[in-house]
Amino acid sequence: MTGLIKGKKILVMGVANKWSIGWGIADRFIDEGAEVIFSYFDERNRKSIEKLLSGKGLNPEDFGIYKCDVAEKEDFENLFEIIAKDHGKLKGVVHSIAYSNKDELRGKYYDTSKDGYLLAQEISSFSFVETAKYAKEVLEENGTLMALSYYGGEKVIKNYNVMGVAKAALEASVKYLANDFGEVGIRVNAISAGPIKTMSAKGVGQFDLIAKGFIERAPLKRMVTLEDLGNSALYLMSDLSSGVTGEILHVDCGFNITG
Ligand code: NAD
Repeated sequence: MTGLIKGKKILVMGVANKWSIGWGIADRFIDEGAEVIFSYFDERNRKSIEKLLSGKGLNPEDFGIYKCDVAEKEDFENLFEIIAKDHGKLKGVVHSIAYSNKDELRGKYYDTSKDGYLLAQEISSFSFVETAKYAKEVLEENGTLMALSYYGGEKVIKNYNVMGVAKAALEASVKYLANDFGEVGIRVNAISAGPIKTMSAKGVGQFDLIAKGFIERAPLKRMVTLEDLGNSALYLMSDLSSGVTGEILHVDCGFNITG
């Protein structure tokens, strides 16, 4: 344990199962002695979070685990009301959420439906802006907001399509939010993670081909692990990164310099 975030209260949004990037980050934060609070999308995710905590020998009842479908304004209101009442001030929030209909993640980008475009933007990008708006009331003065992005928001990645455009909007939002929040000392950053075979990633057409090409071209010649992401999330969440805001940190085994 480094002691960097010991005793800090951190909300992690978007754990679905043991492969989730959100879990990789939460797991590391718990091991660092942080008080992790979870928000989940549906009952399956809630049960999964409870199982993961039990698997670490922890009692899920000792954790705040609350529902928040980010498409529902009421869920946001309830989540942050409960946090303010039961937990007080937060050191940070990790937004590890994205969604698109599978149909949009293959074929030509110009075939994207209007509904599919708006849905991907709503869940994968706008929800971070909304999270920031609500979190503002409960964040400490040197608090931190963090999102998860992907290289497909910068460059064209086959089949990533509408999600690439949502990630581009997410990354721009990180910068605009960092500017808004800078005056109150709150930092806003994103990790641009290399591909990891999670439930969401499996929805992207030919994900296995993306992964194969990744290992060939990434300088470190390997896939990114949840441990890599936990390490970098710890850096961004802690005061080690006190002068860093509006940053999109590539945690991708160097893929972006050759990709
Ligand atoms: P995941 O499927 O484990 O996590 C996605 C989460 O989003 C799930 O917990 C899901 O329940 C949640 N979610 C979907 N719709 C929601 C809604 N309406 N309200 C609340 N939650 C909702 O997959 P992941 O790969 O861990 O994804 C986490 C983040 O990491 C996403 O932003 C994703 O784009 C990003 N990312 C993933 C990869 C990768 O290769 N897996 C790479 C870079 C970035």
